[in-house]
Amino acid sequence: MTFSGKDGLAATSGDVLEERGKTSSFGESQNQKRTNYFNTPLKTEKASSFSKRSFKSVKNAFKKTGRSSSLQATFADSRDPNYEHLVQNLCELLLSEGKIPEKYDDYHTLFRFLKARGYDLIKAKDMYLKMLMWREDCGVDVIGKDFKYEEYDEVKKCYPHGFHGVDKYGRPLYIERIGLVDLSALLKVTTIDRYLKYHISEQEKTLNLRYPSCSIATRRHIASTMTIVDVKGVTSPIVLIRHMIETLHQLFVVNAGSGFRVLWKVLNPFLDTRTFSKIQILGSQFKNKLLESVDRSNLPDFLGGDCTCAEHGGCLKEDIGPWNNLEVHHALKVRTMNRLSRKRWQGQNREGPHDDLTQKEPLAPQPNKAIRGQVDYDNMAQQISALEIELHEIEMILRSLLSRHGKLVDGINQLKGMTKSVSASGPSRHLYDC
Ligand SMILES: [Zn+2]
Repeated sequence: MTFSGKDGLAATSGDVLEERGKTSSFGESQNQKRTNYFNTPLKTEKASSFSKRSFKSVKNAFKKTGRSSSLQATFADSRDPNYEHLVQNLCELLLSEGKIPEKYDDYHTLFRFLKARGYDLIKAKDMYLKMLMWREDCGVDVIGKDFKYEEYDEVKKCYPHGFHGVDKYGRPLYIERIGLVDLSALLKVTTIDRYLKYHISEQEKTLNLRYPSCSIATRRHIASTMTIVDVKGVTSPIVLIRHMIETLHQLFVVNAGSGFRVLWKVLNPFLDTRTFSKIQILGSQFKNKLLESVDRSNLPDFLGGDCTCAEHGGCLKEDIGPWNNLEVHHALKVRTMNRLSRKRWQGQNREGPHDDLTQKEPLAPQPNKAIRGQVDYDNMAQQISALEIELHEIEMILRSLLSRHGKLVDGINQLKGMTKSVSASGPSRHLYDC
């Protein structure tokens, strides 16, 4: 497999939570998209704590009888009115060719393609179509849904990398310690093909989970990543190439030696101005520069911050961030449910399976009410989605309780052991003798 889809990966949106395993909607509801295109307000929840939930909060979750409303809030969608007509034009251009699948038809995705191609409509369309082709050729949907990287833990030992919370703006913070990569050990525990699939699956996770979660947690549209690459001992800047994508907000290269800097200057003429402006090459005195963008408490100690993630065995061991927060998960599901429900309703009232009925008896927009004499599939779908959310919450709570149950059992066994030793060494033959 060749990893030729950089543009494709870069330009898919993090705004949309994909329906996993859902088939493409090529050719379906295209006219509907034309009319509904900008009717997609973003709904999200209030910013929540990124810390792990305490046992108390988990216990309190049991008391909730319905879906949490504590996080319900709205944030304004950030759109530049100067470019809305261009995005609309791109949408119509793709619609005219019947090539705009539902999961990539949102404003932010199309805007990113335009931005990446200097707002040139034709170039943006070509780039979009290449992205679709690349996704199909490489089976990106299948990889994102089904790929399991069993060697993940082993790979992390010889290639320290991972997400570590967010920067000050709320973007996912990604860190790599290239200088510590043990390539021969890496190739013993994985293959290039499997590593590329892992890379694709991680990109999918970023687009479909990390960005939407960060958007919800910050009440802003988040669709780019802050990256720090530690190149201590590395002389070739070529290792940075794969980071040069549209979803990159900024890349800090730290511990760059003189050899690295010289080669970087050689590479510079081949980089476009936008990419170049996103990269800062820093030597060993990088700490203050990083602290301008990342809170000290969220910066690993090996980069000059205070975080050690001792409870996880190190900062890059766990994929920590708002995307693992239970409340953000819940909010994300509600948002997706609302979005899908809105689309279903829009389809139903225009060209859906109920067209015959609506022609006889035009209805006012009442998405939650059953049309007379027919099953209210929309309402049922909402109820099923709500139950799925509850089920997911219960599953996470049970997992937490199970973990605590194990610790309690260990504690009880320790106490029993202590009781026996006290009993054996004390004057009484039995602890409970009167
Ligand atoms: Zn940490």
